[in-house]
Amino acid sequence: MPSDSVLRLVWIYPDLLSTYGDQGNVLVLEQRARRRGIPVETLHVRSADPVPESGDIYLIGGGEDRPQILAAQRLRRDGGLHRAIGRGAAMLAVCAGYQIMGSVFGGEEGQPVEGIGLLDIASGRGTGRAVGELVAETDPALGVPTLTGFENHMGVTRLGPGVRPLSRTVVGTGNGDGTEGCYAGKVIGTYLHGPALARTPGLADLLLTWATGTQLGPIDDVWFERLRQERLAATLPRT
Ligand code: GLN
Repeated sequence: MPSDSVLRLVWIYPDLLSTYGDQGNVLVLEQRARRRGIPVETLHVRSADPVPESGDIYLIGGGEDRPQILAAQRLRRDGGLHRAIGRGAAMLAVCAGYQIMGSVFGGEEGQPVEGIGLLDIASGRGTGRAVGELVAETDPALGVPTLTGFENHMGVTRLGPGVRPLSRTVVGTGNGDGTEGCYAGKVIGTYLHGPALARTPGLADLLLTWATGTQLGPIDDVWFERLRQERLAATLPRT
């Protein structure tokens, strides 16, 4: 992104995948960019509309099984997100949105549904629903503190060699194999709602750094940090 230009955020399919408050991730990115003096423009793309290719950061959220299937079909047909990621845009995909990014995920009867193949992951149905608070230690290579959030999903996700786990679960289920989420290039997938970026603003700053190509200065995070510490204290087992 050139230094004098606007940061373009694209919120994909609010009419299908906006069940769990993940739109808060968009608000956090907007706010943290503006506090650094970076002008921001946000586009909400409904599922009847084409996904623009010119965005800098794409966001997609969680939702129920049927809208998830519809979203996968429309994104595959549209192709705009593929082209955007192909030219180096960043992305945060949450829960249903995360599963869609893979090759396959479980539909409402557990049937395999084709994903859009942007991440080397495959999801199916677990034996029970994973519901509750989650704490996970982030991959140290990312320089992001411990993640917190809540999860609410049936899906389990297997990571292929083309992605790295975003984190290792301390409390909660995540992918279902001791890891939580994944990343490859500038694309992050996670099961964390919360919204995730309000719970862990370091993750928001990672996306902003990737998108702007610049190191961001620190900002006053006292309220974010208070929330993070409160959630950690409430979720971690007492020793
Ligand atoms: N329908 C998916 C599942 O249950 C995703 C749910 C969600 O987005 N929270 O696994």
